[in-house]
Amino acid sequence: TKREVYPDTVKPSVCPFCGVGCQTEISLKNNDIIRVEGRQGPANRGKLCVKGRFGMDYVMSPERLTKPLIRRADAPKNAKAKLTFADIPDYFREASWEEAMALAAGGMTKVRDSIGGKAIAGFGSAKGTNEEAYLFQKYIRQGFGTNNVDHCTRLCHASSVAALMEGVGSGAVSAPFTTADESDCIMTIGCRPEQNHPVAATYFKQAAKRGTKLLVFDPRKQELMRHASHPVVFEPGRDVPMLNAMIHTIIEEGLFDKQYIQANVDGFEALSEKVKEFSPENMAEICGVEPDYLRELARTYATSERSIIFWGMGVSQHVHGTDNARCLIALSLITGQVGRPGTGLHPLRGQNNVQGASDSGLIPIVYPNYKSVEDPDIRAKYEDAWGRSLDPAKGLTVVEIMDEVAKGNIRAMYVQGENPAMSDPDQTHARAALASLDHLIVQDIFFTETAWFADVILPATAQPEKPGTYTNSNRQVQLAMPVRKAPGEARQDWKLIVEMAQRSGLDWDYSDISEVYAEMASHMASLDNISWDRLLREGFVCYPAKDKDGPGEEIIFYSGFPTKDGRAKLVPTDLLPPDELPDEEFPMVLTTGRMLEHWHTGAMTRRATQLNAQEDEPVVSMHPKDIGRKGLTRGQKVKVATRRGEVTLTLRADRDVTPGMLFMPFCFVEAPANFLTNPQLDPYGKIPEFKFSAAKISAASD
Ligand code: SF4
Repeated sequence: TKREVYPDTVKPSVCPFCGVGCQTEISLKNNDIIRVEGRQGPANRGKLCVKGRFGMDYVMSPERLTKPLIRRADAPKNAKAKLTFADIPDYFREASWEEAMALAAGGMTKVRDSIGGKAIAGFGSAKGTNEEAYLFQKYIRQGFGTNNVDHCTRLCHASSVAALMEGVGSGAVSAPFTTADESDCIMTIGCRPEQNHPVAATYFKQAAKRGTKLLVFDPRKQELMRHASHPVVFEPGRDVPMLNAMIHTIIEEGLFDKQYIQANVDGFEALSEKVKEFSPENMAEICGVEPDYLRELARTYATSERSIIFWGMGVSQHVHGTDNARCLIALSLITGQVGRPGTGLHPLRGQNNVQGASDSGLIPIVYPNYKSVEDPDIRAKYEDAWGRSLDPAKGLTVVEIMDEVAKGNIRAMYVQGENPAMSDPDQTHARAALASLDHLIVQDIFFTETAWFADVILPATAQPEKPGTYTNSNRQVQLAMPVRKAPGEARQDWKLIVEMAQRSGLDWDYSDISEVYAEMASHMASLDNISWDRLLREGFVCYPAKDKDGPGEEIIFYSGFPTKDGRAKLVPTDLLPPDELPDEEFPMVLTTGRMLEHWHTGAMTRRATQLNAQEDEPVVSMHPKDIGRKGLTRGQKVKVATRRGEVTLTLRADRDVTPGMLFMPFCFVEAPANFLTNPQLDPYGKIPEFKFSAAKISAASD
């Protein structure tokens, strides 16, 4: 029989999972979350997906960290360690906050004072608040005179941001996904919104039902293709030839917007010249799409009155990820499909606050609002504000930091709410690097795989337990206040960063998080007219906001671009293959990604009872024909190997996976996909090629 549980309180919140940023209403009973429902937020309009609705019990997990922990002197770090929550007492002892904070900050200042600030690095979090991101980058920059501070945007959309900054002068989306309501043509590429941005996907599907053309490009089949007017399954890693063939068609057939280009865009001649070599007839075999279909796709996108492009990590996580995004920007600019309702460029953001963390300066090459650390005028402004000289050179990015740790050049790290021991490519290398650090602080809510290598673990608060702002994929800044008490002695992340700074010799003095927001906003023109009080009153405001009361601007670039001369720039691209191609030894293509039920490295969703019950074991997906050809059987244990490692997991038959490909989600600690992935970087965005590794598969008994 169904037992009704009545809440003793119902509070508004924001979903902590993806960049859609759904607003929620959380019902609590005795501090436990018993129900989550959707509110009429600007992004979700009452809707929630399975993660937002049924995944919140991770905050009540018995595995929450509740006391500071210090590594035992007789517990050496082992790069091959595989620990669980039950192992904590063998490796760590509980400590007072005083002892843990003294050790945490003392370890950082010891390395700074003995070796130098450049021997220090920090990973902040795209899951934390904007205020935490701002404080974290300030702590590393001001406290240690280094720009070695980054976060997982490096692993998702860094190449998209590099291309957008170069092309249109802004790394954010030009229009929200809700503008799909007004589009005549929606193009999605390298994203699987039904799994990774499910509420955003509802707008695309509803538009398709109304007759909007829906072009879905992906090397794997996907559910959204069932709704598509134009499904496009193309060869993995061949985005540039396919997209350049579309650009070629648009130019050759005179479908570009000459007037728009003359008024707003530079570089058309060079682009036209470059794409001459990319005719659909020449590119068809390379990208696996028939020439006539390539031409039809180009015509559909270019001639629709309002076309918009959404993309994800299938575009960005390549050694040519920036080139892929440059092609999408070119498609949009030459057809004038930007700056109007129903048009635009929208990289779908992964984590709930990856947009905000990037805006707040949690990036090694820029201060808040993407202001270059190499610009002496900008730097002087921050030196004046922060009262110390700052590093004039760009800092290292996520993978570069891990490389420098491995070489012994970086000796101390502070990791807040990130999990590089699952998310970095080539885990054998990454975990060995983490284990080699002299001093590793992990500030988190769980004993993550990264915490296995920590010297000090600081128990932090989950999203529903702390105040702060989050910026979703649509540029909507949303305020979430605490709805439940944190367990045990867990502390607010922003307060821990402040205390770390104070104990590292900085004279920080914030009595309330709203003061942090005010300071951050004073450095960020994007937050003009969006005060903390306004957010308290209104719940969210989209940036940019022209005045203190009016709505923010959801559509930007309607009259030029935020570049020096107001014009956008086209950047031609060359045909570059993936870094490693299949060969006799590794004949298959391994691609990695997420699944509907699990979020990123699984730290939260593997501890969410209902979600984990749906998908509780690591799988590799393969087309049934390939399974037969290789003499394997669905459900059996198999070994998947690349040049970097091997993991054992269960074989799943999946017709969506193109023959010749393997797909693995990267959330399973039992068989981490990132032991296999290629750390080779895109030269501009410095993002690894997660989406393409040469691989082989065999029965586990072989
Ligand atoms: Fe949360 Fe994203 Fe699902 Fe919305 S779509 S409920 S933000 S996971």
